[in-house]
Amino acid sequence: MILKGTVVWAPEPARLEVSEASYLVADGAAVRGVYRELPAELAGEPVEDWGDALIVPAFVDAHVHAPQYLNAGIGMDEELLPWLERRTFPLEARFADAAFASRAYRAFLRELWRQGTLRFVAFGTVHAPATWELMRLADAAGFTALVGKVNMDRNAPASLAEDPARSLGETEELALRAREELAHVGFIATPRFVPSTTDRLMDGLGALVEKYGLPVQSHVDENRSEIELVASLHPKSESYAHVYEEHGLMPRARTILAHGVWLKPSEIDLLRRREVLVAHCPQSNANLTSGVMPLTRTLDAGVACAVASDVAGGSNLGLPAHMACAVRASKLRRVRDESERALGLAEALYLATKAPGSFAGFADPSGSFEPGYRADVLVIESARTRELDELLGRTPAERLERFVYSGESADIAARYAGGERMPEPFAQEGSGA
Ligand SMILES: [Zn+2]
Repeated sequence: MILKGTVVWAPEPARLEVSEASYLVADGAAVRGVYRELPAELAGEPVEDWGDALIVPAFVDAHVHAPQYLNAGIGMDEELLPWLERRTFPLEARFADAAFASRAYRAFLRELWRQGTLRFVAFGTVHAPATWELMRLADAAGFTALVGKVNMDRNAPASLAEDPARSLGETEELALRAREELAHVGFIATPRFVPSTTDRLMDGLGALVEKYGLPVQSHVDENRSEIELVASLHPKSESYAHVYEEHGLMPRARTILAHGVWLKPSEIDLLRRREVLVAHCPQSNANLTSGVMPLTRTLDAGVACAVASDVAGGSNLGLPAHMACAVRASKLRRVRDESERALGLAEALYLATKAPGSFAGFADPSGSFEPGYRADVLVIESARTRELDELLGRTPAERLERFVYSGESADIAARYAGGERMPEPFAQEGSGA
């Protein structure tokens, strides 16, 4: 793959790299480099010339609930725990129907593609067949992903409450099957959150994590009523985050915990030591009246973070909306406390590309144009943006900023996954478009 255009990426949190009239070159699935002049040995190779269009890394969503895409934008007048009971659990129960699940997951993957998210880490439901269908479809469509079957055996409606032994058996089976049959989609252990999982189920999952070297995803310190519930269920644990560690569910550098809105100093310490990736979901945190997470303070304390959608707590699958929301949330915190710094555009891009893309649970890193990173790429240009640029010239950084704050999926002209043009998934089945 050789693409020519205005190449923009964030190799470090506060550094936007801009290379105009340049070539992005991939050997197979991996980036070889960005060049102002094409290396001599590549002369004569086909070049896709995108003029001065922006060429950026594709987005990576570190925390999304695939079944809940059908609820995106619905039920936003509820807080977390009633929202789970009234909105989320009834929807997830529908995924016992494999045909329904297959249609829903195709719609989810098409929308991810439209929005330029080509790598993701997702919760499925408790249903193993439906979760396998999501994994299989994502792999076939060309995404790279980590997907988990949800485990829950307490505080769940009868339609979703699992028998722990069966839950563990199905989890192990899916993890092994993914290894044998899928090229680009892996399994991630997915206890829903502490209130949903008994000690017995968490211990069993911890043993599977150790046995197979699995990554783990869950939630932590999202909402105050949820934190009170965890404290009442685990009075002897030092904190919410420590419950995961005590059960072997915090493997070093292979754990993603969503939210961390209300982390205590001892939890910040623990997450830093275990190299946990915190998925910051500012839109969801506002929608469910959870709080405003101190993102820059958490980053500056040495905890790795990413910006994620948390659909359907978040209402949009597209990550630009969440990047803008993360910047706004950091500014609102700064209004209350001037010692907190606001997030900038380059760092927001980093948190939606390289930070989640290089999570060690993936087989290869993505989200940057450094050599060896997976060549997942978006070309950003449309008739709309061209007209604006003709009226008033803009720098590449301004054009990126405009896309993040007020762009739309129609502004993405092309998507490449692993160095190959990625067509719309399942397009021939009709997307209603
Ligand atoms: Zn979530």
